[in-house]
Amino acid sequence: MIIDVHTHINNYHEDRVVSLNESLDKLSQNMKDNSIDYSLVLTSYKVNEHRPSTKQVVEAIKGYNNLGVVSGISYLHYNHRDVIEISDYLEKGFIKGLKFYPGYEPFYPNDIRFKLMYEMAIEYDVPVMFHSGDTYAPTGKIKYSHPIHIDDLAVDYPELKIVICHVGNPWIKDCMEVVYKNKNVYADISGLVLGDFSDKFERYMKKEIEEMITYAGDPKYLLYGTDWPISNMKSYLKFMDQLDLSNEKKELILWKNAAELFKIDISQL
Ligand SMILES: [Zn+2]
Repeated sequence: MIIDVHTHINNYHEDRVVSLNESLDKLSQNMKDNSIDYSLVLTSYKVNEHRPSTKQVVEAIKGYNNLGVVSGISYLHYNHRDVIEISDYLEKGFIKGLKFYPGYEPFYPNDIRFKLMYEMAIEYDVPVMFHSGDTYAPTGKIKYSHPIHIDDLAVDYPELKIVICHVGNPWIKDCMEVVYKNKNVYADISGLVLGDFSDKFERYMKKEIEEMITYAGDPKYLLYGTDWPISNMKSYLKFMDQLDLSNEKKELILWKNAAELFKIDISQL
């Protein structure tokens, strides 16, 4: 069983417009080719012809029992109608979490403007995910996406379940401390490469992830995710395979932690 907690159906090659159904077909095919049982699709903080809205994605995946949606939230652009829609989707179980993009947008995770969102996440018991570490775009401001700032939020909202995306790469040590210290903080290993791992980078990341587990203990907090289509699914599975971990620990990372955290009913898959 494998659950990928971090995929996108945004079109990152903006020289041509790709339909939402075409992107979903591509995701399904990639999942099939790599024996992925379930994926979460994270929507963007931006909505345009290349980045579908949460509403569009929620509608589009209705026929799929192996896909779930995590709703992207913009710090700069949301109004009361967006809040009503999100609360309605949470109530109906149409979205499985909220995703925030500090770094891409200029805010720290414990910003007071998100109090309402965090309270909704606690009430409906869904995790909040944070972009963390490097920004794909040079226009990002990385002081905001440093994983150390997740600690403030984790302490102020002990009931909030928080995911640090990309293990805060390259600040993996800071991420491991925040995860170790706060029982309500998780981390996903997505987006560590563009495309495929090179042998050299794979060896480097293997060491980093193994160190994290040595320090922070049993990987009850670690989640498998790829950031597909940015990272390649097959290359990611190969990366997982060469980690020096027991099968029980790999199972935690590959699906058990995610099924529990996102309440994914695996008997339906
Ligand atoms: Zn991502």
